[in-house]
Amino acid sequence: MTRAAVRDAAALPAAVYDPACCRCARLVRHLQQVRAEHPGYFCRPVPPFGDRRATLVIVGLAPGKHGANATGRPFTGDYAGILLYATLFKFGFASRPESTSVDDGLRLKKARITNAVKCLPPGNKPLPAEVSNCNAFLAAELGTLPEGAALLALGRVAHDAILRALGVRARGHAFAHGAEHALARGVRLFDSYHCSRYNTNTRRLTTAMFERVFESIARHLDKRHAVHAV
Ligand code: SF4
Repeated sequence: MTRAAVRDAAALPAAVYDPACCRCARLVRHLQQVRAEHPGYFCRPVPPFGDRRATLVIVGLAPGKHGANATGRPFTGDYAGILLYATLFKFGFASRPESTSVDDGLRLKKARITNAVKCLPPGNKPLPAEVSNCNAFLAAELGTLPEGAALLALGRVAHDAILRALGVRARGHAFAHGAEHALARGVRLFDSYHCSRYNTNTRRLTTAMFERVFESIARHLDKRHAVHAV
């Protein structure tokens, strides 16, 4: 991790990110094993990445073994980030279309990316208790969302974690690709299938489908901007 990335992560409030968190014993053990196999990997809780005053917050599932867990930045270093960063760039939320490492100079503009679970889970499958343990960090992070912000849930686990973090009952807010949910203070939750290699290779999620979700997000944020500009 570069000095700049260490400084950025250290600037996060402890309620949002604890680099030494050990709440999930199974994940701590798993990280120790992966660190032994890959001594150069990050192998810690992966901090959120992006603009601290974001009006768009994207929530994924958890770090990928050879992606965020290796590099220390969400959706960076493996396949899952390809479509995400290309789309963020296309819609003006990123300074570049690719994220390759924490020191590649990429900046997000009014957007931030985080995960429902900040440590690598075996087989990409966190246990419900681990999602629950990590929800306090997500709740603290989403607690500073500005009025009228947009949230993008990448998959059902992220969707459920967002509702829980915001104290919103799941009833009436079922996950579905392309669904939108009006929440308190003008905040809107958008759902998408996760941009994983499996989902994109099987065309469960295509570029056009993902971009349509971002078009909806852009419309919402434009309306918000118009309201605040009056
Ligand atoms: S997944 Fe979250 S709660 Fe669990 S050990 Fe990692 S940072 Fe802590």
